[in-house]
Amino acid sequence: MTTTSYTPAEIIDRLTALYGQPEWRPHGDAIAELVLTLLSQNTADSNSGRAFNRLLQRFPDWQAVAGAPVDAIEDAIRPGGLAPTKAPRLKAMLTEIKQRTGAFDLRFLEDLPVDQAREWLRTLPAVGPKTAACVLLFGLGMPGLPVDTHVYRVAVRLGLVSPSLTPEKVQTQLEADVPPADHFRFHVLLIRHGRHMCSARAPACPPCPLLPQCPTGRQIVNPALSASNGL
Ligand code: SF4
Repeated sequence: MTTTSYTPAEIIDRLTALYGQPEWRPHGDAIAELVLTLLSQNTADSNSGRAFNRLLQRFPDWQAVAGAPVDAIEDAIRPGGLAPTKAPRLKAMLTEIKQRTGAFDLRFLEDLPVDQAREWLRTLPAVGPKTAACVLLFGLGMPGLPVDTHVYRVAVRLGLVSPSLTPEKVQTQLEADVPPADHFRFHVLLIRHGRHMCSARAPACPPCPLLPQCPTGRQIVNPALSASNGL
């Protein structure tokens, strides 16, 4: 960590007081999470949700998607944007799962150590660190800390990570710094904070419960004081 003196537990406590306790209810369907996360890349959640629902309406199961022509998949997921890119990736990912496991069921990952489960997911086509973490966290109920734009921005502003790090490296660092049992709460609370208070353009620092030890907030609220403190 860099200049903040808040621990992850303190951040969780302060943000829980503001937003309430997030409930971790993993849904158990790792393949659905993989597909949804792939569809959500570079698009709004509402669009990827529509694309996902159309996929489920047009194909009876994942086997049918894997066996379908790419243009049929592309047509089904068009509302999600970037369909020409995502359709072949989706087909390749599902085909690989079937080839490796003989089925469309990834519950065996729950029995692996988390590092092995993550590695297994990472070697699928089109699955990067963020997608693997989403599947672990939301699909399988295992530790993982996906770094989206909100998590990245708030973590950098709080001084938890260096702004020179890529989102992938930020994810690696946060997964090491935040206790695994807290990954879900930390992830959800930073997203809520990024959406409601620590927005990209105009962070609402004065009422923020993290202001006392947030280097960015102190700089915004009182630039002269921050400068004299060497921040
Ligand atoms: S003090 Fe400002 S910059 Fe820091 S976390 Fe709060 S809203 Fe974001």
